[in-house]
Amino acid sequence: MNNSNIVKQATKSARRAVLLAIIGAAVVITALILEHSIFSRLQVARTAQMVELHQNIGKINRTRERLNNAANMAAVTGDASWDDEYEAELPKIQRALDRVAELADPRMTVQLDTRTRISGRKIIEVDKQIFEKVAQGNLTEAQALLSHPTYQFHQQNFSVGTERFMADVATDAEAWSKQFETRERVALAMLAPLSLIAAFALWRHLNASLARSEGVHLAAEAKIRRLAMNDMLTGLSNRMSLRESLHSAMARAAQANTKVAVLMIDLDRFKPVNDRYGHLVGDLVLKEVAKRLIKAVRNGELCGRFGGDEFVAVVEYSGDDQIPRRIGARVVEALSAPMALQGLTVEIGASVGMAVFPGDATAEDDLIGKADIALYKAKSSGRGTVQWFNASMDTDIKMRLELEAELGSAIKNREIVPYYQPIVDLASGRIASFEVLSRWHHPARGTIQPSEFIPLAEKCGLIDELMLSVLQRACLDVRALPPELTIAINIAPGQIQDARLAHRILAVLSRTHFAPVRLEVEITESALISDIEAAKSVIDSLKSLGIKVALDDFGTGYSSLSYLSDLPFDKIKIDRSFIKTVHDRRESVKIVSAIVGLGRSLGALTVAEGIETARDEEVIRALSCSLAQGYYYSKPVPATDLPSLVRRFDGPVRRAVAAISGGYY
Ligand code: C2E
Ligand code: CA
Ligand code: CA
Repeated sequence: MNNSNIVKQATKSARRAVLLAIIGAAVVITALILEHSIFSRLQVARTAQMVELHQNIGKINRTRERLNNAANMAAVTGDASWDDEYEAELPKIQRALDRVAELADPRMTVQLDTRTRISGRKIIEVDKQIFEKVAQGNLTEAQALLSHPTYQFHQQNFSVGTERFMADVATDAEAWSKQFETRERVALAMLAPLSLIAAFALWRHLNASLARSEGVHLAAEAKIRRLAMNDMLTGLSNRMSLRESLHSAMARAAQANTKVAVLMIDLDRFKPVNDRYGHLVGDLVLKEVAKRLIKAVRNGELCGRFGGDEFVAVVEYSGDDQIPRRIGARVVEALSAPMALQGLTVEIGASVGMAVFPGDATAEDDLIGKADIALYKAKSSGRGTVQWFNASMDTDIKMRLELEAELGSAIKNREIVPYYQPIVDLASGRIASFEVLSRWHHPARGTIQPSEFIPLAEKCGLIDELMLSVLQRACLDVRALPPELTIAINIAPGQIQDARLAHRILAVLSRTHFAPVRLEVEITESALISDIEAAKSVIDSLKSLGIKVALDDFGTGYSSLSYLSDLPFDKIKIDRSFIKTVHDRRESVKIVSAIVGLGRSLGALTVAEGIETARDEEVIRALSCSLAQGYYYSKPVPATDLPSLVRRFDGPVRRAVAAISGGYY
């Protein structure tokens, strides 16, 4: 699981937790609202009931008073019409009593009922008698009835009944309100644990999901660590884990008195394959290399990828060095066999550098460094070989470092100078141009070859300065020669991607008053492949200045010719390796002939490089090559030799002369 998935997972559980929290809160709040509304409705209803009870009791008392009043007034005044008023009021009491019985708790109404009904009935009976006496005009008796103790008792009893009842109702209301409060408290008390339970559940869930994300995270971390220890592409150990394993292997070997060999393996010709067929095929090649490496190393030894096209094997052994030696040879053999990938046949190779613990080094960094030095040696001495570290290699490296440090001042001090090798027109036998080849006249080390310092200059970013300085010198050297003679300078791969190259060159040409048409620039195939568009634009700007462009070392490593038609080359230089084998390999003859044909169709001249013998020249002449270069005509010479060299190629006897005095053999 990658990081984004972990984040997604964590966000998901966090979201779920928040959602649950919201739902929980909503449930609790709804419950509170519900509870509140139910209870308050109950309370409202109950209160309304109370009010009505009061009103009715009031009505009873007031009616009772009015009845009493009517009876009294009749008895005192002798006015019998009070009876009508009495009769009108009487049903009101009954109605109010009925309503009270409906509203009040039956327990309470029993008393009210018994007291008021009995006394009420008795009172009404006496009242009727009073009205009769009044109607008869017998006021004395009517008044006597009014003041009779029984009548007074019932009057008293009736009002005590209603009063008591009212008091009971008040007590009941209080009790009820208390009960109501406790019920509310109980409801709250029940909701509280519910909320707690909800909160707890939520917490549990959160915890679980956090634990889950933590689990996921830990698993991812473990995976990341695994990946960190392994090379993603090949699955071999990577640099970090290799160092760890090497460390333990060395510790074991120190204890057991055994040895550990480090084999640094670098692929030959991998970069061109990668550039040519793309990274997808490059990746397949690296995977195939990993497979073959594991097979070749075999005894469960440790294999790893150190990065790029560099691999490492660590071999623990005892006794003589036959074991790592054999493994080294097996690795080279295994990686040189052609690979069939996606319908392509790819041929690479490998160089191996080896160093052994404890003989060469006792610290792992040192051991790796020494294997690296041996590898460097293996690569520079012809590739496809296994080199064991030895102390003299250390001196080589030291020398490289020293040269690197001196290079800048060497360019400024003009220690690096142009040498000239003629390119001969096969038809006329005359020199057509000179290839400018750099030489470093080192004050202490003598003449140093370009294969040693050009890569250093590229690495240190001094290649432009070097090229411009050599070009300037060459322009001045050649200026005095016949104007039809041109010079060709070499451009390092990195330079052809530089948009300001043409401008820089032009500045030198102007300074030295050298015509751009007398200059040619040589570019190797591999320089084009990495960024063909950038190269094309630089080539176009050179051409627009009148500078010619030649394709150097043609045929090495690439079989695609597709880019050729897009780029306006003036010359194609056939690589030396084809000329070397042209006598023994029919294939080389075919290739040279094909290149010549291709050049003709593109309107480009073809130059055969590395012509060392008259026989070489014969073959390429037969194959219709137009130009030739090689030791057969002349090795690269210093500027001082230029006039005599040109003279030598003038006139009819030039070939014989060349063969005797300028030729290599
Ligand atoms: P290159 O451009 O292929 O140059 C031809 C190389 O082949 C030269 O090696 C030349 O001396 C050598 N050569 C010529 N004829 C023969 C022959 O008949 N037989 C054999 N065996 N070799 C022959 P040199 O001068 O050592 O240069 C090596 C390479 O260094 C050149 O290969 C070129 O790529 C590079 N180089 C030289 N000078 C410069 C420079 O000023 N700038 C850049 N960027 N590269 C340079
Ligand atoms: Ca060249
Ligand atoms: Ca060449």
